[in-house]
Amino acid sequence: MKVIVAKTAGFCFGVEKAVEKVYENVGKESLYTYGPIIHNEEVVKDLEKKGVQVINGIDEIDDITNGTVVIRSHGVSEDVYDKLKSKGLDIVDATCPFVQKIHRIVSKESMEGRTIVIIGNEGHPEVEGIKGWAHSDTYVIGNSEDAENLSLKQGEKVCIVSQTTFNFKKFKDLVEIIQKKGYDIKCLNTICNATEERQREAREIASKVDTMIVIGGKHSSNTQKLVEICKSECKDTYYIQTLGDLDLSMLGSGSSVGITAGASTPKKIIEEVHTNVRIKF
Ligand code: SF4
Repeated sequence: MKVIVAKTAGFCFGVEKAVEKVYENVGKESLYTYGPIIHNEEVVKDLEKKGVQVINGIDEIDDITNGTVVIRSHGVSEDVYDKLKSKGLDIVDATCPFVQKIHRIVSKESMEGRTIVIIGNEGHPEVEGIKGWAHSDTYVIGNSEDAENLSLKQGEKVCIVSQTTFNFKKFKDLVEIIQKKGYDIKCLNTICNATEERQREAREIASKVDTMIVIGGKHSSNTQKLVEICKSECKDTYYIQTLGDLDLSMLGSGSSVGITAGASTPKKIIEEVHTNVRIKF
């Protein structure tokens, strides 16, 4: 049995940097992360044991009187920075530079009068953060129905950006629908290189194996996109969080297995899955 592990599987540099920053600060009194640092329960539990607490929304900042807050790679809205500063809390900013770039674009373009359209998943923390930098109306488009339903006035000045982890092919399809509506569009593909590369490699591997395994947290948007892509190429695609979810008997009698993983999946989990698949065959 041939087992192919994607070279791009696992932590991207933005997530790696964010996780490192939290561990570097462990030991400080009253250490918080704004939201779970990554979509991985094991890592979050380990940090919890080390005294790191999670802030689950802007209102919870009211109850904090001192300490350090690490902002994760997803970034946050301008309001959140303002509130943290007004409470005198120390900020360790681990927002990924790719996300910071979107914040700058959205702030500038909205100030210049463009309506902001974000191609992404409504409610995702990165998207919520991006929305919070706009000074004009914002719309989130996650699927073709949303794109068809977008109704602005003819000639409206629009700036389109994307959530960094969105599916590149889907982004192009949705932009195409919006482009037919007669707006004055400035479109910026802000999907990050790491995501594009990971999706491209996942598609390539899935197209040539009998079974595909995608490892990642159940709330991880970039992992869900990988599953979507792999399923379109390989019908035997399985979405697991850890080795515990893997039923080796489901790998069937094929002659090849591919493995990839989302940006929040620690190397240790990928290696465990890889080793066990190899032992089985
Ligand atoms: S997926 Fe891309 S944008 Fe998101 S943290 Fe990783 S490198 Fe940054």
